[in-house]
Amino acid sequence: MAYITTSASCVSCGQLEDQLHIFFSCPRAAQVCLQVPDLWAHQVFRDNTQKDRSTIITCILWNIWKARNQKAFDNVETPARGVLRGFINDLSLWLFRAKNPSCKAALRSWCDSFEHVIG
Ligand SMILES: [Zn+2]
Repeated sequence: MAYITTSASCVSCGQLEDQLHIFFSCPRAAQVCLQVPDLWAHQVFRDNTQKDRSTIITCILWNIWKARNQKAFDNVETPARGVLRGFINDLSLWLFRAKNPSCKAALRSWCDSFEHVIG
C-alpha cells in the first residue's frame, strides 16, 4: 500500500494533476515537447495518414505516461531525452505491427527523425 497515493498533486511539480497536466502542462511533459517544437508543422507528420499520426501521438503520450509513473512509483526522474529515447524504442517495435508498407516507412522515418532530434 506504500505505493498508492491519494493525492491529486503532481509528484514532479505539486500542481493539480489531471490529464492535461500530465501530458502537456507539467514542466516534465513540456520539456519533452520542447525537444520536438515543430511536431505539428513537421512535413513528415503532415504527410502521414491519420492512423500514422495517431500511432505517433499515442507513442509520445505513452512514454510521457511511463516517465510520470517512474517518478510516482519509483521516484526515478526520466529526462526528456530519455522519454524521447523510449519513444524511439517503442515506435521501432510498433512498426513491426504495421501491415501497410507505407505505414512502416512512415513510422521508420519518425524513428530516424527523432534520432536526429536527440542526437
Ligand atoms: Zn507536474
